[in-house]
Amino acid sequence: MDRREPNLSKKWLVTLLVAGLYGIVLWQVSQLVRERTLDEFNTAGQRQLNIYVTHLKGQLEKYEFLPELLSTNARLVELLRRPGDRQRIDALNRYLEIINTIANASDTYLMDREGLTIAASNWQSEKPFIGRNFSYRPYFQQAMLGHLGRYYALGITSGKRGYYFAYPVRQMDEILGAVVIKVDLTTLEQQWRGRNEEVVVTDPEGVIFITTRPDWRFRSLYPLSESDQERIDKSRRYSGASVEPLNIRQRTTLSGDSRLITFGPMRGMEHLSGDEAYLVQQVQMPEAGWRVHLMTPLTQVQRRIGWSLMITTFAFAVLVLLGLFLQQRQRRRRERARYEVQANLSLREARDRLEQRVEERTVDLRQEMAERRRMEHALRQTRDELIQAAKLAMLGQMSASISHEINQPLAAIRSYTDNAKQFLQQDRCDDVAWNLDQIGELIDSMTQISSQLKLFARKTDGQRSPVSLHNVIEASKRVLLPQLSRTGTEVRVQSLREDIEVMADPVRLEQVLVNLIGNAVNAMEKQTDRWVSIGIECENRQLRLNIRDNGPGISEEHLKRIFDPFFTTRETGLGLGLSISQHIIESMGGTLMARNSEQGGALFSLQLPLADRV
Ligand code: ADP
Repeated sequence: MDRREPNLSKKWLVTLLVAGLYGIVLWQVSQLVRERTLDEFNTAGQRQLNIYVTHLKGQLEKYEFLPELLSTNARLVELLRRPGDRQRIDALNRYLEIINTIANASDTYLMDREGLTIAASNWQSEKPFIGRNFSYRPYFQQAMLGHLGRYYALGITSGKRGYYFAYPVRQMDEILGAVVIKVDLTTLEQQWRGRNEEVVVTDPEGVIFITTRPDWRFRSLYPLSESDQERIDKSRRYSGASVEPLNIRQRTTLSGDSRLITFGPMRGMEHLSGDEAYLVQQVQMPEAGWRVHLMTPLTQVQRRIGWSLMITTFAFAVLVLLGLFLQQRQRRRRERARYEVQANLSLREARDRLEQRVEERTVDLRQEMAERRRMEHALRQTRDELIQAAKLAMLGQMSASISHEINQPLAAIRSYTDNAKQFLQQDRCDDVAWNLDQIGELIDSMTQISSQLKLFARKTDGQRSPVSLHNVIEASKRVLLPQLSRTGTEVRVQSLREDIEVMADPVRLEQVLVNLIGNAVNAMEKQTDRWVSIGIECENRQLRLNIRDNGPGISEEHLKRIFDPFFTTRETGLGLGLSISQHIIESMGGTLMARNSEQGGALFSLQLPLADRV
C-alpha cells in the first residue's frame, strides 16, 4: 500500500499535467489559426474588395459621360426653350428612348429648370415620368448648380433602385434644365451573388442599398442619427420608408478598415436564424460617396480552427501514445535489466551455493574415502592376517603328521650314527662313509620338508602374477607329503602340461589346494582306500580344477553351509578353511564350488582365469 499511493498520485499529476498541456496547446493553436486565417482572409478580402469596387466603378463610369453628351444636343435646348411644343416633345421622347435602349440604361429624361420632367424615354410606359417634378432630388439641384449631379435612390415612380447622373442643359451660360440618366443596379447584385462572402454597398448615411443579402436591403449598417434620418426623409431617397439598423451584437476593430462584427437575428426573425459573425472590410468610393463592404463569414475561420484542433488532438494523441509506448518500452527494458541482474545474482548465488556444497561434499567424500581406504586397508590386513592365521592353523593341524615325518628320519639318523660309530671302531671306513651318506640324504630331505613348510608359511599380500599350475600342485603335494604318507593317500594328478599358467598368488593358491586336499584326506580317515584325483580342463581362457576324493561325500544339509565361516564337522576343525579358500579364489577373479561326484565322494570345482601367455 505504501508503495502504491505515491505512484497513484504521480500518475494523477502526470495526467493533469498532460491535460493542462493539451488545453494550452489547443488554445494556442486555435489562437494562432484564427490569427493566421483572419490575416489570410484580410489580404484576400482586400483584393476581392478592390475587384468589386473596380467593377462597380466601371459600371457607373459607362454612364457618367452620357448626360453631358446629351446636354449638347440642340433638340433638348430647343424643347427647354419651347416646352409646350408637342411635336418636339414626341420627337425628343422617341430620341431619348433610342438613346436609353442603346445605352442599356433604366431611364433617360429631361427636366426643366423647375424640376418638371418634360420628356422621358419611358413616355410609353404605364407610369411615365413626364409631368412629374423631381426638383427635390439632390442630383437635380447639383445639376442646376452647374455640376454633374450623381445620386442614388429608390425610384418614386418605378420603385426601382437606381443611380442617377444629371447634367445641366445650357444655352450660352444660362442653365435651362437638366438631362438625367438612371442606371439600374439590380443586375450588379445578381452578378455578385452566390459567393462565400457577402457584398454590401452603403450610402453616405450608412444605408445598405446594394447587397447580396436581400434581407439587409435598405437597412443601415449602424443605427442612424436623427439628422441622418431627416436628410433621408427630405431627399425621399428611399420613398419615405423608415430605415432600420441591422442588429449588431458585437463589433471589434481588427486593423484599419477591418472589423469583426456579429449580427443577431433581425427583429421578428429570431426563430429563423442565430448570430452571424463576419470579417467586415470596407473601402470608400468618394465619387459616389459610397462605402463598399466585403463580409467574409467567420464560419470558415471556425471550420479551420475546428480542423486544426482535430489535427492537433490527433497529433497530441499520437504523441501521448508514443510517449506511453516509449515509457512502456523503457519500463520493460528496465524490468528486463533488473530481472537479468536478479537472475544473474541468483544464478551466481546458486552457483556459489552449489560450489560450496560440492566443496563440503568433496571434503565429506574425501574424509569418507580416506576412512573407507583406512577401513579397507584394515580389512585387507585383517583378512591377510586371517588367511595367514588359517594357514598356520592348518599347519598346526598338520603338525602331528609333520613331526611324525621328521621323527622317522631323526630315528634313522640316530641308528645310522650308532652304526657309523661301531663301523668307526672297527675301522670299516667304507661302511662309516655309507652311513654318513645316508645321514646326509636324510638331512637333505628334512631340509627340503622344512624349507617347503617355510615357503608355505610365508605371508603374502595376494598380488597376482602368471603362475605355473604344475609347480603349485607339486608344492602343495610336498607340503602335504607327511600327511599323505602317514595316511597312505594317493594324489592322482591328470596328465598336465607344464606350461599352463594361471593368474594367481602362488602361495595362496597353494594354501587353497592344501586345504582342499587336506580336507579330502581328513574325510577319508575312516577308510582304507584313499585317493584324491585332480582333473584339469582349459576352456574359454579359464582353467577348471576338479578335486575329487573317494570319501563319503558331503550331506545335502552340510553342502549349503560348508563355505560358512566356522562351520565344521570335525572335532579339531576350525571351520575356516573353505570360507577362506573361497575368498582367496574369488579375490583372484575365480570361483570355488562344491558338490558330490556321481561316482561318490566330494567334488570341489575351482575356476581361475588363465594367464595371457597360455
Ligand atoms: P575344517 O576342515 O576345519 O572342518 P573346512 O572349512 O575346511 O573346515 O571344512 C568344513 C567342513 O566341510 C568340514 O568339517 C567337512 O565336514 C566338510 N568337508 C570339507 N571337505 C570335505 C570332503 N572332501 N569330503 C567330505 N566333507 C568335507
